[in-house]
Amino acid sequence: MSRKLPNIIVTGTPGVGKTTHCEALAQRTGLRHLSVNQVVKDKGCHEGYDDEYQSWIVDEDKLLDAIEDDAKEGGCIIDWHACDLFPRSWIDLVVVLRVDSETLYDRLAERKYPEKKMQENIDSEIMEVLLQEARESYDEEIVVELTSNTSDEMESNVDRIEAWLRQWKEDNQAS
Ligand code: ADP
Repeated sequence: MSRKLPNIIVTGTPGVGKTTHCEALAQRTGLRHLSVNQVVKDKGCHEGYDDEYQSWIVDEDKLLDAIEDDAKEGGCIIDWHACDLFPRSWIDLVVVLRVDSETLYDRLAERKYPEKKMQENIDSEIMEVLLQEARESYDEEIVVELTSNTSDEMESNVDRIEAWLRQWKEDNQAS
């Protein structure tokens, strides 16, 4: 069953700018910002809270059940720091945001992340973990890497994704 609107994943290491991009995109395009973090919390898709990492231990099966109807309908911008769990058939574009490690350090320090979590996230960004995960999980042609160090870069990223959406509609909504 084909969707009338595409589903987009915006992924990357915590602090790269996923939420900021998704909110701007949702406002500009009318697509729905689906914050996985929020769904996990609101719908209890977790097995408890990890105090050391200060994050929820996600139950992926529950999460997929919780978002399946939205994803099948289309028009979701999925905001999450992982992407390999979503079925390939749900997804039309995967945006991997990237940031310099100094910038990421500053953003995570501002969030007062525990030292261990901060270091692991910076290492993960340097090692391109999310980019690799995206490339291994989806067709190469739907994975796009965009930098998110400055607000100008964010503006141009949002423009680019908006242009991609216009094209997708032209290609998929023709009667
Ligand atoms: P994520 O959702 O990936 O964890 P956020 O969107 O919450 O990241 O962004 C983390 C912080 O970095 C926020 O304070 C946000 O304002 C800032 N930020 C995000 N992207 C950019 C950017 N491209 N330029 C400047 N600041 C940014």
